[in-house]
Amino acid sequence: RTVYVNGQYVPEEDAKISVFDRGFLFADGVYEVTSVLGGKLIDFAAHATRLERSLGELQMESPVAKDELLEIHRELVRANDITDGLIYLQITRGAADRDFAFPENATPTIVLFTQSKPGLANSPAAQTGIKVISIEDQRWGRRDIKTVQLLYPSMGKMMAKAAGADDAWMVEDGHVTEGTSNNAYIVKGNTIITRHLGNEILHGITRAAVLAFAREAQMKVEERAFTIDEALQADEAFITSASSFVMPVVEIDGTGIGNGEPGSVAQRLREIYLDESLKKAV
Ligand code: PLP
Repeated sequence: RTVYVNGQYVPEEDAKISVFDRGFLFADGVYEVTSVLGGKLIDFAAHATRLERSLGELQMESPVAKDELLEIHRELVRANDITDGLIYLQITRGAADRDFAFPENATPTIVLFTQSKPGLANSPAAQTGIKVISIEDQRWGRRDIKTVQLLYPSMGKMMAKAAGADDAWMVEDGHVTEGTSNNAYIVKGNTIITRHLGNEILHGITRAAVLAFAREAQMKVEERAFTIDEALQADEAFITSASSFVMPVVEIDGTGIGNGEPGSVAQRLREIYLDESLKKAV
C-alpha cells in the first residue's frame, strides 16, 4: 500500500513517525474517515469542513490546504487502485519533548492511508440489520471534536462482541448519545428521532446528509434525546456513519425492534443516501 506521510507518498513499510509524536503519547490529534465508492469520494467537502473545526477547537492548524487535501485523497485512491473503501486521515500536533502543555512550535504530523473494502455499499449487514447492546457512556465531554482517543469506543465494541452483538449504543443520564462509531436513530411511524447536536455527540456528516434527505422526502425529523426504553418501543432503529451509510438495527439488548427485521424507513433512507451522495461524489 502507498500511504501519505508529511508531504510524501511512500510504501507503508517505509512510513515513519517520531516516538515523541503527541498523537502517540497523548492522543493529541484528530481524524476523518471518508468513504470511496466507484473510485469517488463521498461527502468530501463536509469531511474537510469538520476537520477544520476539530483542528480549530484544539488550536491546531492543518499543514495542508483544502484543495491539496482533495488531491492527496485522489492520488491515494489512484495509487492503491481503490474502487470501494475508506480513506483515513489523521493530523496530530506533532513531535515535541513530552510535556502536557502544548508545544509552541511543533509541526503537525499528517498521515493518510486507504482501506480497500470491495462491495462496501452492498454489505450483507444492510440486509439483515445489526444488533446493539446499551452501555454507559464513559467518554470525555467533547465528543463533537473528532479526536483519536478512541479507547472507550473500542472497549464498547469489545463489550458488544462479548455479548454476541455488533455494536454498543452509549447511554448518558438515561439517554442514548450515539454508537461507538456512528449516530443512533429510532423511527416511530413517519418520524425519525435522533439526538440533537451538542458536545455530547459527534456531528456526523452522514447524519446531516440523511436528515436533509429525510426532510426532502417529507419525513418528520425530531432532533432530541431518547431512552433505551423508548427505542425498545419504536417501530425501527438504525445508525449512520461514513463507513456504514445507513444501517438498520434490529435488536437492542436482546429485544427485537418492531418486527425484528430491517425497517422500511431505514432501507429507503439508505437507498436515497447512496443514490444522492454518489451523484455528488468527487
Ligand atoms: N459518532 C461517532 C462517535 C463516530 O466515531 C462517527 C464516525 O466515525 C460517527 C458518529 C458518524 O460520523 P460520520 O457520519 O461523519 O462518519
